Amino acid sequence: MVFPFSSFYRCYFFNMNYTDHKLDVVVLGAGGAGLRAALGCSEQGLKTACVSKVYPTRSHTVAAQGGIGAALANMGEDSWQWHMFDTVKGSDWLGDQDSIEYLCSNAVDSIVELEHYGMPFSRTDDGKIYQRPFGGHMTKNGKGEPASRACAAADRTGHALLHTLYQQSLKNDVDFYNEYFAIDLLKDDNDAICGLLAISIEDGSLHRFIAKMTILATGGYGRIFQSSTSAHICTGDGAGIALRAGLPLSDMEFIQFHPTGIYGVGVLISEAARGEGGILKNNEGTRFMLEYAPNAKDLAARDVISRFISKEISAGRGCGPNKDYINLHLEHLDADMLAKRLPGISESVKAFCGRDISKEPIPVIPTVHYCMGGIPTNFKAEVLKPSDSNTEEVCEGLMAIGEAACASVHGANRLGTNALAELVVFGRGAAIQAGQVIDTKESLRTPSVSQTNSIIERLESIKSNKGDVSVGELRERMQKTVQKRFGVYRESETLKLGNDELASMSQDLKHIKVKDQSDVFNTDLVEALELHNLMQVAGSVGVSAEQRTESRGAHAREDFPDRDDENWLKHTLFWGDVTDYKVTHRPVRMTTLSNQISVIQPQVRVY
Ligand SMILES: Cc1cc2nc3c(=O)[nH]c(=O)nc-3n(C[C@H](O)[C@H](O)[C@H](O)COP(=O)(O)OP(=O)(O)OC[C@H]3O[C@@H](n4cnc5c(N)ncnc54)[C@H](O)[C@@H]3O)c2cc1C
Repeated sequence: MVFPFSSFYRCYFFNMNYTDHKLDVVVLGAGGAGLRAALGCSEQGLKTACVSKVYPTRSHTVAAQGGIGAALANMGEDSWQWHMFDTVKGSDWLGDQDSIEYLCSNAVDSIVELEHYGMPFSRTDDGKIYQRPFGGHMTKNGKGEPASRACAAADRTGHALLHTLYQQSLKNDVDFYNEYFAIDLLKDDNDAICGLLAISIEDGSLHRFIAKMTILATGGYGRIFQSSTSAHICTGDGAGIALRAGLPLSDMEFIQFHPTGIYGVGVLISEAARGEGGILKNNEGTRFMLEYAPNAKDLAARDVISRFISKEISAGRGCGPNKDYINLHLEHLDADMLAKRLPGISESVKAFCGRDISKEPIPVIPTVHYCMGGIPTNFKAEVLKPSDSNTEEVCEGLMAIGEAACASVHGANRLGTNALAELVVFGRGAAIQAGQVIDTKESLRTPSVSQTNSIIERLESIKSNKGDVSVGELRERMQKTVQKRFGVYRESETLKLGNDELASMSQDLKHIKVKDQSDVFNTDLVEALELHNLMQVAGSVGVSAEQRTESRGAHAREDFPDRDDENWLKHTLFWGDVTDYKVTHRPVRMTTLSNQISVIQPQVRVY
């Protein structure tokens, strides 16, 4: 490959070579968020590289099923203000209202833009983008009927979105570095961020991507859990990278359990199934959500339904021989509609349970699905590095978007369809902001040689470590602990136990052995690097969960069952790692960007 803006250096210290790439923008991640940002930067003429550890169309976004939220009002009354109300309520008031306004008010334009980029949406009879109802999305500020707000391409919306954005990125000359694994951020001698260092998985060569703006779009960290709907690549690398760069992670205690993962497998059955009329029943054949959420019923928010499914199972009303799952029924719906609107789900259920959804119910349990926490940003996608709880200082030259970021539009609980909307709205927003702050005539910062060497030194020490623990074995131990101790319901003792176990396991990282010492497709080394990130992230989740002594959204404490706005209407910021950390807080931003809507004051959250 020829790198027009590249130069080649020898790092004598470790006798390792690295190649420098000089850019305006480096985007880390080629999921929906990364691609939308890279495309937007390139469209403005910025020299942009996109680095991804997998081929772009294998990013987890490709698995998104149900839809992307925007108040187009194609299939009934709707407005972005109602979308905002639902999102604030869904977040249990922990979401920053300026960011939520940015999301909801820009979602419509972002969807129209996707349509113009060629995204193959499903259509209504009169040719408009098809929209279906989804959990927690209502009309008239929660008082009306469910809103049809989820724009869908059958039940393969993420697939359609990712391929569209990849094609547009290629067309607009984004430079792709596929199967490159980013290790850490580069800094200059004044500690300012100036790019990232990555290893080519294909041949083990090292690359410094030196840029005026670095955009982290590395996705979520569902794989800290044993059972998750996330792909195996969702290992929180961006979060680990941020912590090692001395930056905080925000609201890590909030992990979303999706109510309907296939029992025993963890594969997702999208909320689209309930959006199209699916219902949940216990072993007595009772549709229990009618009692728990009389208004929204089976379309209440995810945290709410997950808790009630867990409650039904604990009360002995679960289905099957062990009474440990709930049945999702679709067989009362029209078979042609199921084939047209939910073809992917039909296939998954056939493949993983051997059942026909038009004839039998699907066995489901709540399964880890989405990470609300991440790298804190403002609504412009700039990474926050507050030195005390009253400042909103930003980290120059660094942005974060998508599931890796905490903007915070989802607060304590994300509504379905708002993640895909976040990818395109904030991906586009990040590109606009980058275009405004980057001066293409200005020279690049020079990465510090000693800092580059220390990244390479860490890499070498992980690779050459003569330990006796395998990566797979330690990862499994960590995932089991996280699964057992940080589940749907939490309490002080188990959280503390989990954190003690993680602190001890993190010491075992020093004893892992990378068996493969070659340079070519060394997946053993890549998995070891991922495990370091997973462990740091797992620690941040446990510590953040232990200190939040209230229940809010997805964080349900049995010992503190109520929401406590007086003491806890604030974001958690975790710094460090599980053995040496600090926790600080920053207030929730209760301000709006325009006079088209007022701040939505905290209320009791019922559906
Ligand atoms: C099964 C499933 C179904 C879903 N359905 C929906 C839905 O219908 N609607 C909705 O709104 N949301 C849905 N979600 C959530 C949504 O899909 C995700 O939050 C979103 O796609 C994340 O996109 P992203 O761009 O942030 O990251 P991802 O798509 O996860 O991409 C991350 C990128 O970062 C790269 N990367 C990570 N670490 C490194 C590293 N160290 N070096 C180099 N590259 C790296 C990866 O290669 C990848 O390209 C679903 C999620 C799942 C798991």
